[in-house]
Amino acid sequence: NAIIQLKDVYKYFGNLCALDNISLDISPGEKVVVIGPSGSGKSTMLRSMNRLETIDKGHIVIDGKDINDKSNDINAIRQELGMVFQSFNLFPHKTVLGNLMMAPMKLKKMSQGDAEKVALELLDKVGIREKANAYPKMLSGGQQQRVAIARALAMDPKIMLFDEPTSALDPEMIGEVLDVMTNLAKEGMTMVCVTHEMGFAREVADKVIFMDKGKIIETGTPEHFFNNP
Ligand code: ADP
Ligand code: ADP
Repeated sequence: NAIIQLKDVYKYFGNLCALDNISLDISPGEKVVVIGPSGSGKSTMLRSMNRLETIDKGHIVIDGKDINDKSNDINAIRQELGMVFQSFNLFPHKTVLGNLMMAPMKLKKMSQGDAEKVALELLDKVGIREKANAYPKMLSGGQQQRVAIARALAMDPKIMLFDEPTSALDPEMIGEVLDVMTNLAKEGMTMVCVTHEMGFAREVADKVIFMDKGKIIETGTPEHFFNNP
């Protein structure tokens, strides 16, 4: 019943083993936080889940579909996975609303009216509806990241992947982004988050994974990781 399954996964960059025999099951609705030193493979693992990186060995199964099996439509699988990066990656020449409407209209063939309705609802959800007609560069980093989260949600994904979503933000803006993520968690979204925010991990994670040198060294509850004497 895992919605995300990694089985004996290896990924090499030249001689460097970035993912070294990773196996992992994530259940629907589960919130997983991935921690570990820089260069340990956290980002590579996340990016492999929607095939931004192709693995060299093993299997990754998303909602029952092996993403490296050529007979499965990777674009359809990617629609089930919303991804948020450290850099917000908004389209600079589109308004906030335009950024949110693009994918649903193009990929879901939604009408302009329907896409706008969904976009405005999502902007309400991330608390930024008043910026609908603004351009990204007029927004703070925290606001841009909230738009990026809304944009990922616009495809109605089953899973959200977060790759250090607050690392590029000024400290005073981290809270507003973590609040949006916490609300999403409360709604039951399946989430995999690479983050250094241990408070978020303690509050939200069902499972914490510690990686080092391409391996999962330890898996446990937040209590296990953070409440040891
Ligand atoms: P983390 O997210 O834990 O910081 P990464 O997954 O980004 O780690 O990187 C894991 C290792 O793989 C690092 O040693 C990194 O330098 C290397 N790496 C990542 N992407 C590439 C790439 N495209 N080409 C070569 N090496 C890479
Ligand atoms: P992140 O940890 O968020 O992936 P990085 O700065 O490590 O950020 O990586 C940025 C980009 O550079 C990614 O696409 C990654 O795959 C690539 N990259 C990382 N390390 C290397 C490397 N040693 N050689 C080539 N590309 C790399």
